[in-house]
Amino acid sequence: HADRLDGIPPTIFTEMSALAMRTGSVNLGQGFPDQDGPASVVERAVRALRDGDNQYAPGSGVLALREAIAAHQHRHYGIELDPGHEVVVTTGATEGIAAALLGLVNPGDEVVVLEPYYDSYLAMIAFAGGVRRPVTLRGPDYRLDVEALRAAVNERTRVMLINTPHNPTGTVLTRAELQSIAEVAIEHDLVVITDEVYEHLTFEDHEHIPLATLPGMAERTLTLSSAGKMFSFTGWKIGWATGPRELTGALLGAKQWLSFSSGSALQPAVAHALDNESGFYESLRVDLQGRRDQLCAGLSALEMEVRVPEGTYFACTDVAAYGWKDAHEFCLALPERAGVVAIPAQAFYDDQDEGRHKVRWAFCKEADVIADGLARLSAAD
Ligand code: PMP
Ligand code: GLN
Repeated sequence: HADRLDGIPPTIFTEMSALAMRTGSVNLGQGFPDQDGPASVVERAVRALRDGDNQYAPGSGVLALREAIAAHQHRHYGIELDPGHEVVVTTGATEGIAAALLGLVNPGDEVVVLEPYYDSYLAMIAFAGGVRRPVTLRGPDYRLDVEALRAAVNERTRVMLINTPHNPTGTVLTRAELQSIAEVAIEHDLVVITDEVYEHLTFEDHEHIPLATLPGMAERTLTLSSAGKMFSFTGWKIGWATGPRELTGALLGAKQWLSFSSGSALQPAVAHALDNESGFYESLRVDLQGRRDQLCAGLSALEMEVRVPEGTYFACTDVAAYGWKDAHEFCLALPERAGVVAIPAQAFYDDQDEGRHKVRWAFCKEADVIADGLARLSAAD
């Protein structure tokens, strides 16, 4: 294989979901819901397939979807976007991340990224020839260390890559934390890519605040999101990027050579979802909060140190107190010990002193699946 693949391991999600299949384990690993999104949205896709939406969509996405994305950003956050130039539909947020980095990072540019980082960030920063500069959200609180953020920026920094609500820690960045990010970005004239795929999945009074809404940030922020997380259609791979024309244009410049376009029958269905099904994510968040509490209570009872997440559908634990030094070893042994699969969050860290004992558990699963997983874990003790 080419040199660029050196040092980039196969994605942990493939490894762990294959392990779950092979061993018949309860899969609390890869983050996909076991309940699909709204039936009306599926019906809309079926209609589009029957009506002949079966050829290439425009490269930046079908207009109805770009309009629905702009309307969603306006309705929830007061953000004004021109669907003609400031919205691009991507093949999942995954392609959005890839195209943003390929379109904005030059070889040798440094990219400041929150650690633990979603694994595709590592691969795509490397493919773009960039150098990652992690800023660690440290347990047990997983808050942003503003001094560490400031220290990570230098004259080679070009981009900051932010994720809130944050996978895997469950941190929802506060306005004060976002304000610090904005100050650093403005002071050093940086572009910020912000991955907000879990924007509607926040709990209690934790509020998702888009970075683009902070003063001085709209013009330097490229925001990514996805119908996979918003409407529980992870297999559809419909995502989007929003922001000023120079940034969406850079993303599109790379995206046109990756997929050109995709999902022509799914795009009108996602437009329908954005326009009509906000009730879906409103009730998903309430549901998920209950399942979060169920999972966290069960894991705490096993004497794992659990971070109760403020958002996303993942809970991070430290398994050191539970007697395990290495999360990967723990997760490889778990199917045989307990018949459960989880993700070694270790894979998302450069700082192994911090990451080595961290394990991530998904709770976007039905309550009886979570109960089964917890029962298996406590029987294994
Ligand atoms: N970013 C984060 C933080 C994620 O957790 C995921 C996984 N859903 C993605 C991006 C990828 O999104 P998609 O499935 O739309 O490609
Ligand atoms: N985003 C999902 C997670 O964090 C997985 C996506 C994938 O498998 N690439 O679990």
